[in-house]
Amino acid sequence: PGSFVGLDIGGSKTRGILWVNGAIAADASVGSANVQNVSVETARQNMAELFARLDVGDVQVVFAGAGGVDTDDDAAALRGLIAPFVPGARITVVHDTRLLLAAGGSTTGVAVIAGTGSAAWGANADGAQARAGGWGYLLGDEGSGYWLGREAVRYSLHRMDLGAPPDELTQGLLKYCQLEEPGELIGHFHQGTTRRYWAAASPVIFAAAVKGHAHALALVEQAGADLAQMAYQVANQLGITGPIVLGSGLGSNVPALQQAFIKHLAAKGVTDVRILRQDPIAGVPLLVKTQQS
Ligand code: BGC
Repeated sequence: PGSFVGLDIGGSKTRGILWVNGAIAADASVGSANVQNVSVETARQNMAELFARLDVGDVQVVFAGAGGVDTDDDAAALRGLIAPFVPGARITVVHDTRLLLAAGGSTTGVAVIAGTGSAAWGANADGAQARAGGWGYLLGDEGSGYWLGREAVRYSLHRMDLGAPPDELTQGLLKYCQLEEPGELIGHFHQGTTRRYWAAASPVIFAAAVKGHAHALALVEQAGADLAQMAYQVANQLGITGPIVLGSGLGSNVPALQQAFIKHLAAKGVTDVRILRQDPIAGVPLLVKTQQS
């Protein structure tokens, strides 16, 4: 088609792009419209704001990638949320890892998302698919921004239990949360903070790691190792060795995490690793084209 809309519905934000004749005509970001993270009502409001800002006209094709789309029912529910804004359009909803692999320029390989949440998924030349992780923050999301934020909270509480004074990591965390005492973290965590909020705390851990804080370094190392393990597992199941594409918020932007990821994969003999420098939504044109052919 001459024009189509791409959506990337993540745990912290929803980005939408309107492509017209191969060029970007509109590009906007709003809050999360992922019902794993926000209420259906909030998701609907954010979606309404996004479509209003994109001013999509009578576009007939929408291609969306979203976290938390694990069953056909999940995809159908999301299509239902999008449909009122694009009457009559054909709407495709896929798991967000699909966008990431396509953004890496490939139809085969393994995509690893390290964003607010985490997940790995891949496909091989025979059309087989496999995934690892992507279970959501209550069940897993190892190596994600949320996981790092929560681990820093747990570390600070553990030290508090031992009677140790707040160190640099805990102080950074308290400053981020605008709290005085580590003990306040417990209530703060459970009362009205979001997944996005804790994912956005991850720079505190990266800053401490850069300064050589041992536990912050260990957390970054663990995140890289866990993400590498997910990627390796998927590649193994598919009988491929790459490309492994790492992306999304942390994956594209945090050198320490990228280095740990690359190192742990190299230790397993996997070296075709690519760091995605753009948002996963950049994969939409390739996926729309593939769908058409
Ligand atoms: C979701 C996955 C998603 C991942 C990355 C996780 O929290 O459960 O479905 O792929 O985040 O966005």
